Amino acid sequence: MAAPLRETPRGWDYRARLVEVGARVHAAEVVSGRAGAGVRVLVATKGWGPTAAAAVRAAGATLIGESRMQELAAKAEALAGARIHVIGPLQRNKAATAVALSQCIETVDSAALAERLSRLALEAERNVDVMIQVNVSGEDSKAGVSPREALDVATRVQALGGLTVKGFMTIGLNSTDERRVRSGYRALREIRDEALILAERGAIDLREAWELSMGMSNDLEWAIGEGATIVRVGTAVMGRR
Ligand SMILES: *Cc1c(COP(=O)(O)O)cnc(C)c1O
Repeated sequence: MAAPLRETPRGWDYRARLVEVGARVHAAEVVSGRAGAGVRVLVATKGWGPTAAAAVRAAGATLIGESRMQELAAKAEALAGARIHVIGPLQRNKAATAVALSQCIETVDSAALAERLSRLALEAERNVDVMIQVNVSGEDSKAGVSPREALDVATRVQALGGLTVKGFMTIGLNSTDERRVRSGYRALREIRDEALILAERGAIDLREAWELSMGMSNDLEWAIGEGATIVRVGTAVMGRR
C-alpha cells in the first residue's frame, strides 16, 4: 500500500522557499550567461497531500509535477488552475488519468505508451503535450530511452495524432560529481539541439521540441548551466518527504 500523503510541517513557509529557489535559479542563469532565460520551476509534490498542494499553489507555484496518477487524482481539485506535468513512470492503465488531468506528460519512453496517449488524445479531441524521457546516465534503474534512440523515438511520437513533442526530460545521475552529472545534462541538450537543427532544415517535424526538463533540488545549478528550461524541485520547496 502507498504511504499516506503528508501535510505541511508546522511553521513551513512555501512562499519563502519559492523565493529562495527563484533566487538560486536567477543566480544560476546569470553565472551561466543565460540571464533572462526564464527557466521555469516545476514543483514536484509527490508524497504531499491536497492541503499541502493547495498551500504551495496559493504561495505562487503555477507549474506542478505529479509522479503517481492516484495521487494526482486525489489532488486534482487542490491543484485546480495549475499547469500539471506528469513526471513519474506512466503505466498504460493510468494513461487515461494522465490525459484527463495533466497538460504535459514528460515521461514518454516507448512507442507503445505514445500510441496509447495518442488514441486517448484523439478520442478526447484535444492535443496533449509530451516530452521524451531519456536515460542519460545509463543506469539500469532509470527509465527512459537511450540517447542513441531519442531522436528516432521523438520523431515517431510526433508523427502520431493528438500529441506535440515539446522537448526532452531526464533524471540525472544521483551523484556529487559535477563533471559526470553535467555530462549527462549536456548529452540531453545535444539531443535537443540536433532535433531543432534537423527540424529547421525541414528534415524532421520537431519544431516545438525545445524544452529541457532536467535538474532537481540538489543540482539545479548544474542543469541550468547545461541549458535546462524547466527544473523539477521537490524537497527545496516542499520539505523532506
Ligand atoms: C521527486 C522528483 C523530483 C524532485 O526531487 P527533489 O530532489 O526532491 O527536488 C524531480 N523529478 C522527478 C522525476 C521526481 O520524481
